[in-house]
Amino acid sequence: MKDYLGEKGLCIVCKESMTTISADVEGGTKLFVCEKCLETTKQNFIWICMGCGNVYIRPKAIVLKKLSDSHLKKAYQACEDLQLIQGLDRCIECDPEGIMEAVAAAKSEKGGHC
Ligand SMILES: [Zn+2]
Ligand SMILES: [Zn+2]
Repeated sequence: MKDYLGEKGLCIVCKESMTTISADVEGGTKLFVCEKCLETTKQNFIWICMGCGNVYIRPKAIVLKKLSDSHLKKAYQACEDLQLIQGLDRCIECDPEGIMEAVAAAKSEKGGHC
């Protein structure tokens, strides 16, 4: 999280507040996040879809509880205290078929039998 002096943008999470606080998401995209929403990231994981701009907020405790993959769980636990916003290329809202393809591709990569 950096504070770019003088530069202002609309908060991508609530889309209500103008803010000078910005977060760098993977891929080098700069996103503005207001103080209120930054506070939210302490208790919640926030995902933003780069395709349609949809924002997904999930409480960290619930996400961690639901994770059965121990590697993934460890990765998320490492992020538990970070104020983090993760970018998604696409989400179920803007590309339901793309998501299905991605899931199918992930499954076939694991080498399942036909
Ligand atoms: Zn906000
Ligand atoms: Zn989307």
